[in-house]
Parts: sequence; structure tokens; C-alpha cells
Amino acid sequence: MDWIYADYAATTPLIPQAFESMLPWLQQRFGNASSLHRAGTQARKAVENARRTIAAVLAARCDEIFFTSGGTESNVSAIRGVLDAGGAKRLACSAIEHHSVLHTLDDLHARGVATQTLIPDGSGLLDPDTIAEKVDSDTLVSVHYANNEIGTVEPIAQIAKQVHARGGLFHCDCVQAAGHLPLDLENCGADLASFSAHKFGGPKGVGILYIRRGTPWHALLTGGAQEWGKRAGTENVAGIVGMAKALELSCCEIDSEASRLRELRAQLEKGVAGIACVRNNVTAATTLPGIANFSFSMIEGENIATLMDQKGIAVSPGSACAAGLHEPSHVLRAIGLPPDVALGAVRISLGRESKASDIPKIVQALTQTAAFLRFLQPAWRDRAQHKQE
Ligand SMILES: *Cc1c(COP(=O)(O)O)cnc(C)c1O
Repeated sequence: MDWIYADYAATTPLIPQAFESMLPWLQQRFGNASSLHRAGTQARKAVENARRTIAAVLAARCDEIFFTSGGTESNVSAIRGVLDAGGAKRLACSAIEHHSVLHTLDDLHARGVATQTLIPDGSGLLDPDTIAEKVDSDTLVSVHYANNEIGTVEPIAQIAKQVHARGGLFHCDCVQAAGHLPLDLENCGADLASFSAHKFGGPKGVGILYIRRGTPWHALLTGGAQEWGKRAGTENVAGIVGMAKALELSCCEIDSEASRLRELRAQLEKGVAGIACVRNNVTAATTLPGIANFSFSMIEGENIATLMDQKGIAVSPGSACAAGLHEPSHVLRAIGLPPDVALGAVRISLGRESKASDIPKIVQALTQTAAFLRFLQPAWRDRAQHKQE
């Protein structure tokens, strides 16, 4: 069956060259990077080569790049690490962060840490000046570079500048941005930044935590001396090698991919605009190129996604993390959408292997699915009847 994958914001297929680069480290070159014999030193070399590649792509120094198990670990340990080191006493994050940030702040709040939520405008955009008013020299601010549901790109350089002017620290979740937006850690001003390989064509279960030199930070995982004592545990050698390859490749193609995906999304939006009573939830001036998000009135995103799957098209209701919870997306609620509109949301996210020929198929399947689900709604039938009368 012809299968269309349009859920790149949830995860991406492994880039073939990244897959190939991993194979030796999963087979004959299985050494532990901490071992002294040649199998170990080979693995160590591979890990440090990957670190150099990543540092070069991100404009960071090698001793600022730490390997983790993914975006969640990077976010959690960035926040808890600064707090534990006494680098901050108060925390602030936007209302539309990933749950790994939001729930970490909730947990710390329950343990007595002062926390604040920064409210975005109706397009998901945060205002650096408003943030500045809420920050002091004891505050760690965590704001993502780009949102995973509605694609809003935040003005992180200005936010970092305002936070630093008040003497605070800034953590940036760059998970959705990597591979799609230019990243320059030296100039973006983040003190800490998070990345996850499987969002940019690398393998799952491996990520990066960037910690700018001199940032107060205390290790979350204690144990062996790996990563200069900042992150204990045997390195995921194959994962790290594959991640470096995927980052290098996807960052080379940022400009060409961005314009290609923008064009595909424009086609998709044009097609979906032909369906009655649909709201386009992607409204910011600057957004990730491949993310589309629509709310269909009177029907639920979860039902749409289930029926789309039966037609061989993978899309997401609101967000993958909220799927199965039957709760409206916190992002869509935070930008002011009522619960029923948020529940009607479907996220369609395009990427490297998306083709122009996918778009009319997605539009057609959405049109049929919406018509079918609405036909089952008495309220929709009444509405249609009223229109005819
Ligand atoms: C996916 C995602 C994460 C979590 O990354 P994992 O590697 O899946 O734990 C964090 N932040 C954002 C914005 C994401 O999209």
C-alpha cells in the first residue's frame, strides 16, 4: 500500500547515510568508549569525532556539547541542573513548551520552587519585553526555539538578550528547530540548549545538551566519569555517530528544504481551505516550514487521524504527546482556542521524504474524512439543512 507519512514533528525516518554510519558500531565495532583496549579507543575516537562535527555545525565548543538520551533528558537536566547548582532560584517557561519542560516546572513548583508561566499571543509568539519584566538575576527562563504543534518560531536572540540584561539564565529547547532553522549557539545567546536526534533524521534515544562554558550546572546522572563527569553512563556510540551524520546532512540542506517544504505546505493550506469550517492554526509570521495545523469544527482530531490512518496517511491529532489523553492540546488552549476547537485539531508535518504528489492525496483524504465524520453529527446535518432552507 502506498503509505504517506506526514508526522515529522513526532519523529522522522532515519536518513540512509546516518543509518549506514551507525552499522559498524552496532556490529563488529562494539567496544565501550571507556575501555583502554583498541575496541574501546576506536569507539572513543568515533564519539569524539561526532562531538567535533556537532560542535562545528552548531558553532559551539567541543567541551560545551554533552550527549544524552534525547530531548526530554536534555530539557529536564538543563533545568534541574541549573537549579541544583544554585544558578537559579526561580523558573519561568512559556505556556506552550513541550511537556518535558512544563511538567518539570510543575514538579519543581510542587516541591516549593517559584515558577512562572509566560503567555504567548494568539499566534504563539512571546514578547521579549514582557518576559524582561518577569525576570531577575535568580531566574532561569526556558523558551523553545520553535513550537512542535503550530510551528511558531520565537525571537530567542532577543529573549536571551533581555534575560541576560536582568542577570538571568536562558535555556532553549531547540528540538524542533534543528535541521529546519539556522542554529548558531555562539550568537543565539542561549546558556543551555536541547536537541534530539530523531527529530532531524537521526536515531531515537539520543540527544544533545549544550551547556555554555561557565554556566552553573550540576549533573543529574551520577556514576562513571563519562562526559567529564557531567553525564554518567556508557555512551550510545552508534546513536551518537548516527546523530552527528544526520545533523551534518540536514543542516547542509536547510535552505533548499525550507523553501521546498514551505511550497508544499502552501499547497496543502490552499487545498484544505476548500473544506468548510476549518481554522488554520498556524498564524505566526515566522514558522517552521513543514508544520500545518488545522481545526475542523464539530469533529475531533483524534477521529480524523484514526480514519486518515486507515487510508494510509499518518497525521497527528493536535500533538503526539496529547494523543490518547482525550484532552485538548495545551498549546492550542494557550493561544486562546476554546476546548472544542482545540479538540478538532489535526497536525500535518512534512519533511525530507515528503513529495509534491503527497499533497493532493492528503487533501482528498481530509476532505472525505471530514465529510464522513460530519455526516455522523446530527448538529452538522441540522446546520446543513438550515442552510438549504
Ligand atoms: C520531541 C520533542 C521533545 C522531546 O524529545 P525526545 O527526544 O522525544 O525526548 C522536546 N521538545 C520538543 C519541542 C519536541 O518536539
